[in-house]
Amino acid sequence: SSAASARVDLDGNPIKPLTICMIGAGGFIGSHLCEKLMNETQHKILALDVYNDKIKHLLEPDNLPWHGRITFHRLNIKHDSRLEGLIKMSDLTINLAAICTPADYNTRPLDTIYSNFIDALPVVKYCSENNKRLIHFSTCEVYGKTIGSFLPKDSPLRQDPAYYVLKEDESPCIFGSIEKQRWSYACAKQLIERLIYAEGAENGLEFTIVRPFNWIGPRMDFIPGVDGPSEGVPRVLACFSNNLLRGEPLKLVDGGQSQRTFVYIKDAIEAVTLMIENPARANGHIFNVGNPNNEVTVRQLAEMMIKVYSKVSGVQPPETPTVDVSSKEFYGEGYDDSDKRIPDMTIINRQLGWNPKTSLWDLLESTLTYQHRTYAEAIKKVIAKPVAN
Ligand code: NAD
Ligand code: UDP
Repeated sequence: SSAASARVDLDGNPIKPLTICMIGAGGFIGSHLCEKLMNETQHKILALDVYNDKIKHLLEPDNLPWHGRITFHRLNIKHDSRLEGLIKMSDLTINLAAICTPADYNTRPLDTIYSNFIDALPVVKYCSENNKRLIHFSTCEVYGKTIGSFLPKDSPLRQDPAYYVLKEDESPCIFGSIEKQRWSYACAKQLIERLIYAEGAENGLEFTIVRPFNWIGPRMDFIPGVDGPSEGVPRVLACFSNNLLRGEPLKLVDGGQSQRTFVYIKDAIEAVTLMIENPARANGHIFNVGNPNNEVTVRQLAEMMIKVYSKVSGVQPPETPTVDVSSKEFYGEGYDDSDKRIPDMTIINRQLGWNPKTSLWDLLESTLTYQHRTYAEAIKKVIAKPVAN
């Protein structure tokens, strides 16, 4: 449309339609990015993934307004000779593919390391060799623990932002010992970041690295026993949603004392779109993408989700709304945790003028409304008639 073709970048220049090779396009973030690019831009997407359930609504039927601008390629980047050709056909590659659920880091450390480091290597190599731009998804977890977490519990310095705010160009990466296999993910992501950075420095690769800080919203992960394995452990939003839908207490790991900042997926996708359309401002940078104003402990998150769910579903919370579980019981041996994650926003603000907008309450209200609409009936059936497996 003329509205879409009149899009301009942050410097007022018209934006040329791009062909984007999006790897992991069928996941949570990929599905929202595809949706935004189809609705609001003229870019073309080659969507690569092993699954397409979360983008089916963008692929079918044939009379969708963006028909022909998005094509799905079912492939596993571990072993598929089509990968290089698809990268060569594109102006830009976005790599989202990864194993990125904490329950896997300590229980499937080999798969985690292969997925986040080894499997990403050919993507980086093909981009570098073919002079193609790369936007690679890393994680806030590369920061690991805060410096402040090593201070005595009663130290007043713990209140000083210098000891906890996470800065792309200054903060160190602090992981636990090798037995704490939780850090296999963060360490693999750190090494792929260093490799991409080195390709930029030595071979001129045009890259942008994204460090998401707990992006949440509709379509995140799965509800165990409904659209994922009944014994599966997704990330916290889906774990708590599952508990709320089933009327069970929410499980607080090690007392729920860890702190997180949550950002609404739709806010975060705005930031990614700015990176896509403003290469001169985004290339060579690592960006924190999060909402420093939405900080809670996991316990506070649980309490807020209980209130919001009750409001949007009209269902009374259970008498015992939360229970404590040990991390060993919940995740097994080798789990460890990030204590606190406040993103510094200086660089993304300066380069892209981006700021998150949605409060935690508002994003939970829209997300839990979606969860209730999508899953409440299915859960009733599962509870009434448990399937033997
Ligand atoms: P997700 O699991 O929903 O999406 C990842 C997608 O990649 C999945 O659809 C999966 O099928 C696909 N994939 C994995 N391995 C593949 C392979 N070998 N070949 C083809 N496809 C493959 O996760 P997400 O939340 O959308 O995360 C996307 C990226 O962002 C990941 O790199 C993750 O580490 C990073 N990240 C996300 C968050 C967050 O808050 N959601 C936080 C930190 C980092
Ligand atoms: N968590 C919890 N109960 C759950 C699931 C997760 O208390 O049912 C905690 C987990 O220990 C961590 C936080 O919630 O402290 C966030 O977990 P998530 O899996 O979303 O990923 P992370 O932010 O650790 O990468």
